[in-house]
Amino acid sequence: MTSRTTRRLLAPVVAGAVAAAGLTLVNPITAADAGAGKGRARNVIFINGDGMAAAQREAARLYHAGLDGQLTMDELPVSGQLTTSPHDPKAPVTDSAAAATAWATGEKTYNGAISVDTAGNPLPTLGAQAKAAGKATGLVTTAQVTDASPAAFFANTANRSAQDEIARQYLEVTRPDVILGGGEDWWLPAGSPGAYPDRTAADPSEASKGTKGDLIAEARAKGYQYVSTADQLQAARGGRLLGLFANEELFQQRPEGEGDAYDPPASLATMTTKALDTLSKNRKGFFLFVEEEGVDEFAHENNGTRMLQALGELEKAVAVARNYAATHPDTLVVVTGDHECGGLTVEDTGTADESGDGISAEDGPFAIKGSNLSFNLDWTTSGHTGVDVPVTAYGPLAGEFTGKHPNTHVHDVLARVLTR
Ligand SMILES: [Zn+2]
Repeated sequence: MTSRTTRRLLAPVVAGAVAAAGLTLVNPITAADAGAGKGRARNVIFINGDGMAAAQREAARLYHAGLDGQLTMDELPVSGQLTTSPHDPKAPVTDSAAAATAWATGEKTYNGAISVDTAGNPLPTLGAQAKAAGKATGLVTTAQVTDASPAAFFANTANRSAQDEIARQYLEVTRPDVILGGGEDWWLPAGSPGAYPDRTAADPSEASKGTKGDLIAEARAKGYQYVSTADQLQAARGGRLLGLFANEELFQQRPEGEGDAYDPPASLATMTTKALDTLSKNRKGFFLFVEEEGVDEFAHENNGTRMLQALGELEKAVAVARNYAATHPDTLVVVTGDHECGGLTVEDTGTADESGDGISAEDGPFAIKGSNLSFNLDWTTSGHTGVDVPVTAYGPLAGEFTGKHPNTHVHDVLARVLTR
């Protein structure tokens, strides 16, 4: 009997034994085929858990999967670490703009820079290069679509706060095919509220403030299908898609019990699914940037409850990407964070809070899934920290992420797929 025949005969036997034992095959991908990396990569799905490092991932694992459970984002077969320090004259700890510039251009720069170098000169971005190579491109985020992390892949500005200029560059320069997330305020001039009313009770500070005209009208004129609700998103059939589902973020980032909310009109997984449906029609492949912003913004508020909720939604989006790649072996999936936020640790409950109250107070307890145990989160800051971020990967070139690298390494690997 040849080994080929053996394999053919064994497969149903094994499957039958598993079924008989009553086990659930949650993950149909075996270690042997997962991310073997033999094929040639044509597509990249790059996923940012903004503010997510090891403690955030472990807290999410305990809370969403349990002591012996495993998150999809951690099951990806290759893992490594990235350092995140910027080249900033004043700071050794990065912000999202400098970190995303490192990913998108391979250059370290100052905090606040959107794909410009330390002298302010624009740098080639992977988003623009992928488009020039004939690929479809897209971005999906629960932040403003023009927030720093997606912006660095598709725009160049000296200051991350110029979000209306970033939107203009999307339409007039880099033309991502799919743009889904929040930040409607930056696409419309003051006095034009759009689909999401200005100055609502939930956040009186939010109002249209663009200075580049009606960019939604310009998007339509340039062939984008514009949607503002989950139903419209579901029904959309265009090859170019602009979806804006909030004035700013798709959540309210506040301390716990002070008006905090995480209830995006369209979930990150839903937006990711739609983006993949749209981009995958391009025969030369695609680049998709996916981001969960709530991890970072709720960590800034030291709000563990909402941070864990956001991490759960990120996990669902990772599953969408991994399942796509499982049936499209020319797809590289990478999951990482741009920096840590909150100086977070995972601690036992029931011990005194040795770190004091105020901003460094303990947060919890949080139940561990499937267990009668629980854990506390303990914060040390409301800002970013400089610890390494884990990176996990699946598909061709995934093995390049083994080891410890500067965050510019993301660019160097992705460029091998996206610039040719
Ligand atoms: Zn942040």
